[in-house]
Formats: sequence, structure tokens, C-alpha cells
Amino acid sequence: MSVVSAEPAAVQSARNLNDARVIAHEVIEFLITHGLHPGPINYAVAYEYRMGGDPALNARIDAHLAAGKRLDDLLMRELYDEHLAVEQLRNLRGLGGDLQQLVDGLIGDIHEAGHHASGFHSTVENNISLLKHRKDGEAVNAIAADLLAATVKVHSSNAALKARLESADQEARKLRDELERHRREALSDPLTGLFNRRGMEYHLDEMASSCAHEPLSVVVLDIDHFKHINDTYGHTVGDVVIRHVARVMQSAVCEEDVTVRFGGEEFVILMPRRNLNEAEALAESIRVKVERLRLIRRQDKLALDPFTVSLGVACRREGEGFDGIFERADKALYAAKNSGRNRVLTELALN
Ligand code: GH3
Ligand code: MG
Ligand code: MG
Repeated sequence: MSVVSAEPAAVQSARNLNDARVIAHEVIEFLITHGLHPGPINYAVAYEYRMGGDPALNARIDAHLAAGKRLDDLLMRELYDEHLAVEQLRNLRGLGGDLQQLVDGLIGDIHEAGHHASGFHSTVENNISLLKHRKDGEAVNAIAADLLAATVKVHSSNAALKARLESADQEARKLRDELERHRREALSDPLTGLFNRRGMEYHLDEMASSCAHEPLSVVVLDIDHFKHINDTYGHTVGDVVIRHVARVMQSAVCEEDVTVRFGGEEFVILMPRRNLNEAEALAESIRVKVERLRLIRRQDKLALDPFTVSLGVACRREGEGFDGIFERADKALYAAKNSGRNRVLTELALN
């Protein structure tokens, strides 16, 4: 049975608009109740939760709340990456379909051109065998006309194929650029432009084969007392601080290194072909540069208090997987926090 609305379109659209307002209001209320900043990522997750379109997402939030834990930006980011960013992958799949169509179309064209070419080939063969037996001028003329017609047919079919190939080539370039853009978006963090966790996984997979027997160092960095920065100056300034730290890291690393915003105010640098000492020196240079940053709030020219970062460093041991290195780098970071912050400690400090 089809359901036909008895309401005029205008009433229906007003009702939809009203529903949308109620939902938006509820989503904002939810964010405020849980002390969450109503930024796009938090809003997107809360909206999805309110709409209940992804039961797995709702189950994770409900379990988190039921355990008496607070929702925070880090968790919301994680939920966004794991549940909503999938939408971007769907777009990729759509693009894959477009490419497939393009390829199918081309294969059809090539078959058709091949068909015309083989028709041409048999016309030539037939006429040549006729020429062997007939020597009168009229027959030669008829054969020549036949060959000419066949040539024209093949020529126009080739010209059409060439035009199609050229436009397909343009289309393929466009799709490839779009695919590359989606890939970059899916692997990077929108606030800082660094790689996100998915980007890190991607590079780790690559490194597993490309530099399995060479050194690999890992630096983990965490902004000290970041909650205090947010509480003192507001979340927007907190974001600016995150961006500045990211910029310092990006300017300190070399091309081969992979700089990642791991979540919230935590970062990771993967340093292929660098030993522990080299990674420690880089970590120390980042620490010093951040310590020296002096930021001024634009709106009122207020000079922010200087802030610092703590870093932990570890290097891969023979035959070790990535989890082991991360664990030691993380422990070194934890030790750096516990021994006063604003410092670099390596795994050698762990006992
Ligand atoms: P510590 O020195 O021990 O690292 O203390 P901390 O205050 O830096 O660490 P804590 O983990 O207590 O607080 C981190 C805060 O970072 C909590 C969270 O609200 C905030 N945060 C997470 N992601 C973002 C973000 O994207 N932007 C902003 N402005 N704040 C964020
Ligand atoms: Mg932290
Ligand atoms: Mg911190």
C-alpha cells in the first residue's frame, strides 16, 4: 500500500523544518548536557546518535555513559572516525562504480572498432582474391569503390573511438584527482592537516614491508596541562594551540617522517631509518621550539601563557611489531609527565 500524505506540500515542508529545528535543539542540548563543544565533529556524532541510524554507535555511547564515564572530544573524534567517516569511503566506492562504467564503455567501443577493422580486413582479402581472377577495368573500379567505402567506414569508426578515448582519458584524470582528494581527506586530520590515525595505519602497513629490517623510531607527544589551556582561554584557542604544535612538529621533521594527530592533544611521529638518539634529538628540538612559542590572542591582543609538551621516544627492536614500540614510547611519555613534564624521555629511562 502506498502512503499518500493528505497535507499540502507547504504544510509538510513547514512540518519538516519544525522537526529539523526540534532535532537540532535536542542535539545541542545533548552536547551541552555532556559538556561538549558544539563543533562540527561533536555535532555530527550527537546528531547520528539522536537519529539512531547506526546502532553500533549508539551502543558505544550508551555503554560509555552507563559505565559512568564522561564523553569527551577525543572519544567523539574516535566515534566520528570509526562510524561517520565511513561515509567518505562510500563516496570512494561510488567513484569506483563510475570508473567501472567508464571502462565497460571503452571495452564496448574497442570491440566495435575491432569488429569494423576485421570487416575491413575481410573486404580487402575478398577484393584481392577477386582482382586475381578479373582483369577488366569495370571490375577493378568496383573493387576500388568497395575498398574505398570500407576504408571510410574504418576511418570514421577509428575517429569516433579516438574522440571517445580522449574524453574518457579526461574523465579518468578527473576521477583519479577526485579519488586522490578523497583518499587524502580520509587519511588526514582536518584541524591540523597532519595524518589521522587511519593515515598512521596506512603508513605503518607500508613501512611493514618497505623498511622491515631498518631502524624505526616512534615519538609520542602530549601537550602539558592542555585542559587548563582550554579552561583558561576557551576551546577555540585550544584548537589554535593544537595547530601551532602541529606546525612546529611539521617544520622539524624530514620528508620521510610521518606526523600524526593521534587524537585530541596527542601526536605521534613515525621516523623510518632513524635510531633512538636521532629521534631523541628531534623530540628535544620540538620541545624547545614549543616552549619558546609566544602566542597572542587576536581579538584582544592578550599574550597567552607559554605552554609546553612532553615526549616519549622508542626505537624498534629486532623482529618487533609496532605495538611493542608504541607501548614503550607511551610509557616513556608517561614517565616524562610524572617526572615534571616539559621533557623528553626515551625508553632507556624505563626499568
Ligand atoms: P597532561 O599534562 O597530563 O597531559 O594533562 P592534560 O590536561 O593535557 O590532559 P587531559 O587528558 O586531562 O586533557 C586533555 C583535554 O584535551 C581534554 C579534552 O577536552 C581536550 N581536547 C581533546 N581534543 C580537543 C580538541 O580537538 N580541541 C580542544 N580545544 N580540546 C581538546
Ligand atoms: Mg592527553
Ligand atoms: Mg595533555
